[in-house]
Amino acid sequence: MKRRSKYIFMIIIVSILFAGTNIFLFQRYIGLVEGDVEDINQLGTIRGSIQRFTKLELVNGENEFIKNRIDNILETHKKLNTPFLNETEEKWEELKSIAVKYRHTPNDYYRKILIQTSEECWDIIDNAILKNQHIAENKTAYLALPIVFLVFELIFGLVLIYIIKKYVYDNLGTFAAYDNLTKAHSRRYFIEYMNKEISRAERKNSAFSLIMFDIDRFKIINDTYGHSTGDEVLKTLINIVQKDLRKSDIISRIGGEEFTILLPDSRLREAVHTAERSRKTIEKYYFKDIGNITVSFGVTTYQEGDKVDDILKRADTALYLAKNGGRNRTETV
Ligand code: GH3
Ligand code: MG
Ligand code: MG
Repeated sequence: MKRRSKYIFMIIIVSILFAGTNIFLFQRYIGLVEGDVEDINQLGTIRGSIQRFTKLELVNGENEFIKNRIDNILETHKKLNTPFLNETEEKWEELKSIAVKYRHTPNDYYRKILIQTSEECWDIIDNAILKNQHIAENKTAYLALPIVFLVFELIFGLVLIYIIKKYVYDNLGTFAAYDNLTKAHSRRYFIEYMNKEISRAERKNSAFSLIMFDIDRFKIINDTYGHSTGDEVLKTLINIVQKDLRKSDIISRIGGEEFTILLPDSRLREAVHTAERSRKTIEKYYFKDIGNITVSFGVTTYQEGDKVDDILKRADTALYLAKNGGRNRTETV
């Protein structure tokens, strides 16, 4: 159980590391590609604007604002170090100076050069866009690592779910078999166990005995010291009783402060001996904040043909006798 929780812990830590690295890698990738997309968009704007600039120039239209816009974009990109912008810039400067000359001398010669330079601008920017697109595409390689990590994370997640499911499934029986407070066996487990013991006794003609015990005047302890102190008493009590028992003896909590000890392969005399030993141990024990308490015991043994209820009834009767007889004693039926 411990080893399994160590694995779960390790898987969770590795998954967190993978997830952290992945977020970092994805963010870096998005940052890189975003820059490229922005560059491509701006180049497209420059390309279109230069065409418009030329067109307006040829019809003697007002194109100063377009010129300023192109200059501004180029200026910003120069600061950002966008690749392939130098050629564009040089051609743009050439186009502007030809435009000035054409405006001065609007003849066919300059008109032709103006159109030709504008076309050259288009080609250069087109080329730059293609190259930028190519660079952006190559960056998809950066995606490979986060995707591999993502696959690992999915695998880890599935393994984790499997381990946890198995852990819960494997331990469902354990959870139901024990009482949470005292860690004694549960009533359900006790009944199942006793049924098995009865079958075994019938088959092998063997014997087993049952002790039932109940704290004397426990209500007073609860009322005087509080319920949580009462709980502590229950825990301590089971601890000290268990120390005196054999490994094969099954101690269970069958009610609030009522417990049983099933003693396989034990006759009545041995069971009484065990009960008396426990009774004396408890009697002498000093419970923190409270002092001494006493417990009454009822003991019975398996008789041929017994069902679970028959044995329980006899143990209960024996316990009743012990209570009636003055408590802090062991009685048999
Ligand atoms: P008697 O000697 O006749 O057994 O007297 P008693 O007071 O022990 O008997 P009774 O059955 O009247 O009271 C049992 C008390 O046990 C009542 C209940 O509050 C208390 N009790 C039952 N379960 C728990 C528990 O889980 N924790 C605590 N602290 N008290 C419990
Ligand atoms: Mg009691
Ligand atoms: Mg009781």
